[in-house]
Amino acid sequence: MRMRRLRRSEPLRALVRETTLNPGDLIYPLFLCPGQGVRREIGSMPGVFNLSVDEAVREAEQAAALGVGGLLLFGLPESKDEQGVGAWDDNGIVQQGLRALKASSASKKLVLIADVCLCEYTSHGHCGIVKECDGGFDVENDATLELLARTAVSQAKAGADIVAPSDMMDGRVAAIRRGLDAAGCSLTPILSYASKFASAFYGPFREAADSAPQFGDRRTYQMDGANLREALREIELDLAEGADMILMKPAMPYLDVVRAARDLTGVPIGAYQVSGEYSMLQAAFERGWLDRDRATLESLLSMRRAGADFIVTYFAKAAARLLA
Ligand SMILES: [Zn+2]
Repeated sequence: MRMRRLRRSEPLRALVRETTLNPGDLIYPLFLCPGQGVRREIGSMPGVFNLSVDEAVREAEQAAALGVGGLLLFGLPESKDEQGVGAWDDNGIVQQGLRALKASSASKKLVLIADVCLCEYTSHGHCGIVKECDGGFDVENDATLELLARTAVSQAKAGADIVAPSDMMDGRVAAIRRGLDAAGCSLTPILSYASKFASAFYGPFREAADSAPQFGDRRTYQMDGANLREALREIELDLAEGADMILMKPAMPYLDVVRAARDLTGVPIGAYQVSGEYSMLQAAFERGWLDRDRATLESLLSMRRAGADFIVTYFAKAAARLLA
């Protein structure tokens, strides 16, 4: 047997290629901020911007023209408070963005996904309500659930095609499903960040979304990076609570988790190529240490090969251009 027989030309290689990557597999995250004509580049994420709603619509139209599958929306509110009121404000930044995007031609081609969490809106930067206890603090699980459900309902009413809870509170999928159904949004799907690990690779995102915790860290709710079996239990629980699709985060350092999830369940699976994965590659590109085009596509292909149906990536537009 000579395995090299099938590698002799690009048409041959294309014929026997096992994994595909298409622009429609890619979800493009956008960070919405107040104002008009604002396009502020994020220092640690070259090519990624805080965008006012009008600029976000322009960005969405470009993404739609390139065949990108959808958008994942995050918000930087005008002001923050202890509870994160801006998250469920019907006139909040993401809700404004959703209405504008829904009214644009881009929405006919793009799935609009709204991130559901409180950390971008709370003054302390945690994903839930914070209570002092025993000289320290605790993020209150059950009190947070109602606020998450309220946020998801508000986003669905503003035009979100999918809501995506990223907070990692226990029971949030069930609470959001109940909230959506009670509000007449029974057809809005939930994409749960089922296994979200407490990762150093989120670093640049915190600059992008201005969401760094002001004290402590997120290890009491996000998962320990050492645990695969626990990730599968999280997935099973979210599915039992009514998640329609699941998202795995981060992607490249956790491809074994994506594969295990694929083997566990038939529901659609997404992988989130997080900010640190993007910034790390960008830094290498800038130094000329990696071939930009090939490394971009190879990083995304690895996630499809591991079993992800779609990928959330800051490279969405660039990769779609390469795939055209
Ligand atoms: Zn959060």
